[in-house]
Amino acid sequence: MKAIVIRAHGGPEVLALEEVPDPVPAPDEVVIKVHAVSVNPTLDIATREGRYPRAIRFPHVPGVDPAGVIVAVGAAVEGRRTGHRVWADFILGCGRCSACLEGNWRACRDNRMLGVDCWGGYAERVAVPARNTYLIPEGLGYGEATVIARHLPVAMYLLEDLARLQQGEWVLVMGAAGGLGSAAVQLARHMGARVIAAAGSEQRVAAAVGMGAISGVNYRTRDLADEVMKLTDGRGVDVVVENIADPELWTGAFNSLGRGGRLVTAGAHGGGRVALDVQQLYLKRLSILGGAGMAAQGVERSLLLAEQGLVSIPIDRILPLSRAREAQELVGRRQNTGKVVIDPSLDAVS
Ligand SMILES: [Zn+2]
Repeated sequence: MKAIVIRAHGGPEVLALEEVPDPVPAPDEVVIKVHAVSVNPTLDIATREGRYPRAIRFPHVPGVDPAGVIVAVGAAVEGRRTGHRVWADFILGCGRCSACLEGNWRACRDNRMLGVDCWGGYAERVAVPARNTYLIPEGLGYGEATVIARHLPVAMYLLEDLARLQQGEWVLVMGAAGGLGSAAVQLARHMGARVIAAAGSEQRVAAAVGMGAISGVNYRTRDLADEVMKLTDGRGVDVVVENIADPELWTGAFNSLGRGGRLVTAGAHGGGRVALDVQQLYLKRLSILGGAGMAAQGVERSLLLAEQGLVSIPIDRILPLSRAREAQELVGRRQNTGKVVIDPSLDAVS
């Protein structure tokens, strides 16, 4: 089969289209013929550049969130058969510890990540444990399923579990036109919150406002905290959703919090090291909560919300595997409005 293979850290030029052996399913695995895998600033690009905390082993095939059709099933697999349309969750449990045996493999301390610790979905086929797969509702395409399942369950975890967002509260979403950002804007609105969308260009701000925010701010050209205070009558927001951790943007986001505010974060593609005003933190009784978790139930709810048309994450474009470099360059330069998706099944016909 064809796959994108990386043999060293570096720029997009290290992504090479190569012929590699077809995966063979272990007894608990299925093999998915990949129809969609998304391009992510952190898990794909930071990993390729060697900036991600987990080291990858070369040769490596990236791709954390493949969706496709099952074409082979391991001997011990139950509940999945060839022809099932599935999305694969990228946290792979060890399958042996108490957390895994309880079905809570996201809590596994020996977890591996698909497309980071083992070969992922930038390939015509990928093998994953059957327990990591979720059936895609009939009315949902592979690309939509990938971007929804990748981001909406994380937004649910941030807004529901960490921030405990209440109806009527104010939410500021950073990177609001990104995958997680657009999921957070729509979910917060769905939960009855008042949303301010912040992004780094007028085009991206407009896209995020179109998804249901009350107002938008370009944080590259405006003073974010000033604008937020104007919009909230000087109170500040109750919740900030952050996944950038850019030292230049962090202060504006943090200073936008009102008394008792919660900043939730899951991602650090903007650098990860920021200045923290501890005086503000305790005087305003603020909380900073991190976590990129999500629940299995959140994935199922997310796919259903998407099928019902209640949440949709925009897809900028879908490219074949042979254009993976271009796909990562677009995302790396933030030139996309919406997710960039790779569909390896397009290569066979192009
Ligand atoms: Zn485990």
